[in-house]
Amino acid sequence: MTSSTEAPTAQTTLLETIRRFVDTELLHHHVERRFLTRPFRESRAHLDGLRAKARALGIWAPFLPVEHGGLGLSLIEYAHVSAVLGRSPIGHYVLNCQAPDAGNMELLLQHGTPEQQARWLAPLARGEIRSCFSMTEPDLPGSNPVWMNTTAVADGNDYVIDGHKWFTSSADGAAFAIVMAVTNPEAPMPHERASLIIVPLGTPGFTLERNIQIMGDEGDDYASHGEVRYSGVRVPRANRIGAEGAGFRLAQERLGPGRIHHCMRWIGICERAFHLMCERAASRQLAPGTLLGSKQTVQNWIAESRAEIDAATLLVLDAARKIEAHGTQGAREAISTIKFYVANVLQQVLDRALQVHGALGMTDDTPLAYWYRHERGARIYDGPDEVHKAMVARRILKRYGADVGG
Ligand SMILES: Cc1cc2nc3c(=O)[nH]c(=O)nc-3n(C[C@H](O)[C@H](O)[C@H](O)COP(=O)(O)OP(=O)(O)OC[C@H]3O[C@@H](n4cnc5c(N)ncnc54)[C@H](O)[C@@H]3O)c2cc1C
Repeated sequence: MTSSTEAPTAQTTLLETIRRFVDTELLHHHVERRFLTRPFRESRAHLDGLRAKARALGIWAPFLPVEHGGLGLSLIEYAHVSAVLGRSPIGHYVLNCQAPDAGNMELLLQHGTPEQQARWLAPLARGEIRSCFSMTEPDLPGSNPVWMNTTAVADGNDYVIDGHKWFTSSADGAAFAIVMAVTNPEAPMPHERASLIIVPLGTPGFTLERNIQIMGDEGDDYASHGEVRYSGVRVPRANRIGAEGAGFRLAQERLGPGRIHHCMRWIGICERAFHLMCERAASRQLAPGTLLGSKQTVQNWIAESRAEIDAATLLVLDAARKIEAHGTQGAREAISTIKFYVANVLQQVLDRALQVHGALGMTDDTPLAYWYRHERGARIYDGPDEVHKAMVARRILKRYGADVGG
């Protein structure tokens, strides 16, 4: 890494501790192989043990404030941690800073009532339960989230929720969902019609219909994406997070820092893929005495990947600085830029690393194929590439006096 992508000196000891933990405990061949080739539930007992070790080492929930059992890191400090954890497919889970729980914890921290925090945030922060975020619907475009069929109708002190959602990631085994539902259909502004409501998943009327197959991989437990139905689900109105109609504003707030988390996790994946690519190029012989790395195409891939990963890292750290200085709203352009840029760097680097490994790259003997399958979604979730590019371009054109909408 170049010096300007390095973490602040004050963080060096913590990062070294986390790096050593990842290297010795998580990149261990047997641990990674079981995660890659067996159902998640088979790894859970072992992962619980690793979580206990992480807690004992003092590296638990790095993004959470100290009073909630975390390390109280700033967004930039946490960004560096996220890149170190991203080198393992289970890094974030083991330190209890995995999506979607991390975003849900931040939401409850900032907007939850004391009762909601005691009932839902505290056990999440301790890693005793999991949660999910239920917004996208199969029948309507997720890229236009204000267009939504799911409703929450007030009835006395309750809401009655009806709707059909999918890609409710990690719903399988979660204790509760944060559901986006229309509560104020008459509000003049479309983005003021929906609210975020906590639904315990044991509530009658909730059904997990299936874990959706992702490129052939159905997954289970935390490592899954659920299609779910809410049929007359009744929950207290006290389960609403924030004001009625504030759902989109809160979701946007949740997604701002969340994109830094995702992007730095992707940088971590890139670093691991880059390392595997270089190791292979430096050891695989195409003929006696002829290394794969002697081929110019492979050299180009190594040089281009290094440049792209460093550029991506600098962009993400810059976006994190802008969020810290100006808030999510003030950093919107930077956030959209990193979302599409880093997702594409990730895809390129993974593709090159996989190609360099030949047939081995297609197997689950390395994590490359797992990431290739599951991180293709990086260009789609939290807003597809095209939506973010359009947003950036429209803002730039506005500075040239052209208002082209949006
Ligand atoms: C792995 C994964 C995990 C996810 N996890 C969650 C989760 O936990 N909770 C949740 O609620 N949702 C989740 N999602 C859903 C995700 O947020 C949506 O898939 C995303 O918002 C896009 O919506 P859509 O799939 O309906 O695509 P659509 O909105 O139908 O868009 C399809 C395509 O149309 C194009 N397009 C769309 N809009 C424009 C535009 N304005 N200009 C040009 N082209 C455009 C893009 O190429 C886009 O990919 C997840 C998705 C994936 C893949």
